[in-house]
Amino acid sequence: MSNQSPSKQSYDVIIIGGAIMGASTAWFLSDNKDFNGSVLVVERDMTFENCSTTHTNSCMRQQFSAELNVRISQFAADFVKNIRSYMGGDERIPELSIRSFGYMYFADNDGFADVLRESQQVQLAAGAATQLMTPEEIKAAYPFYNVDDIMLGSINLVDEGYWDGGAVNDWWRRQSRERGVEWVQNEVVAITRNAAGTQVESVTLASGEVVACGQVVNASGPRAARTAQMAGIDVPVEPRKRYSWIFKAEQPLDQDLPLTIDPSGVHVRENGGGTYQCGGHSDYDPAVEFDDYAMDHSMWESHVWPILATRIPQFEAIKVQSEWGGHYAMNTFDHNAIMGPHTELSNFIFLNGFSGHGLQQSPAMGRGTAEWLTYGEYRALDLSPFHFERIPANRPIIEKAII
Ligand SMILES: Cc1cc2nc3c(=O)[nH]c(=O)nc-3n(C[C@H](O)[C@H](O)[C@H](O)COP(=O)(O)OP(=O)(O)OC[C@H]3O[C@@H](n4cnc5c(N)ncnc54)[C@H](O)[C@@H]3O)c2cc1C
Repeated sequence: MSNQSPSKQSYDVIIIGGAIMGASTAWFLSDNKDFNGSVLVVERDMTFENCSTTHTNSCMRQQFSAELNVRISQFAADFVKNIRSYMGGDERIPELSIRSFGYMYFADNDGFADVLRESQQVQLAAGAATQLMTPEEIKAAYPFYNVDDIMLGSINLVDEGYWDGGAVNDWWRRQSRERGVEWVQNEVVAITRNAAGTQVESVTLASGEVVACGQVVNASGPRAARTAQMAGIDVPVEPRKRYSWIFKAEQPLDQDLPLTIDPSGVHVRENGGGTYQCGGHSDYDPAVEFDDYAMDHSMWESHVWPILATRIPQFEAIKVQSEWGGHYAMNTFDHNAIMGPHTELSNFIFLNGFSGHGLQQSPAMGRGTAEWLTYGEYRALDLSPFHFERIPANRPIIEKAII
């Protein structure tokens, strides 16, 4: 598909990037009765072939160590389970659910067992249903695991597991378009400030058009730093490669496999029909080129499969069906979302750095960003702890449960 031109020369809001964060923000703006402005979403590849959203594991969890992350995922669960009513009762929208097989965290040392215990307290206080399990309890509930080296497990079986992120994303895009948000395939290649250097004035598209804007949202995923640099801003976000495999087991497990986070970092979950989805990355984990999605074919045999077969001996006999490389937009400062306005360029709004847990954050982040763009404050959930300003102030929010 070739570049498309916007219909106007000026918009109140321009969103750079039209995958799940851009779509969510566009939809929540279109749903906000107090927002009457014009919105343009610029997406460089409307096939979405290579964005993080397409490569995701599509799961949500409430097992975070930071309370705000728990609350953000609780809104995701509520939105997904009630999507039709949130989206105006539109009968074309499917009823969705969460396949709540839970995330099973394993601790094989005292330090991580303590992290699980402390995190459980945060999660319980926020209303999550996290349970800690001894190795004996794990073995009784999930006999297929080898827990010889495990000291403690942590799982939550309420609103934690797989959900259809693709469907939510598609409907946000479709309904926002129907409500007047303009979407174009094009690439933002430059951002221009006003003469005083205090505001973004316009963006320039690959096709040459210069489009004026009231506010601009950086929803460009792993390319966040490149987009910010166009405005002369640094943001600590890098593309980091993450590999996924779908495999079929010769003898499938006779119950759902939780999204299991092995102490090695390899993770695996139920995928239905005797298949399982597994993810991992190499120990050497540098920033990669924006277009580097090459698969490391040696990793499966040399690293991932032996770990799986040790943790779940029934996975000795499995066959890979498909595999791909994707990118986390890794926030190297504190592995958490970076939102809100830039400290000096106040109409440049970040929506970046989701570090592998952005899909489930998209409902709360899109809602919050739409509130910020409309009111200059948050109304439903205060997301200001995630504002960009914490980076220059050196105030990291440490999230201990990063996968
Ligand atoms: C392997 C893997 C597993 C994951 N599993 C989970 C999970 O289970 N649960 C979870 O919550 N999260 C998960 N994530 C993370 C989640 O997928 C991401 O956080 C989320 O999809 C980020 O969405 P985004 O819109 O910010 O970025 P992206 O999906 O990367 O979209 C950014 C978009 O911006 C566009 N763009 C960039 N620059 C420009 C420009 N200059 N002009 C125009 N357009 C531009 C790109 O083309 C792209 O479409 C996973 C990620 C990966 C890679």
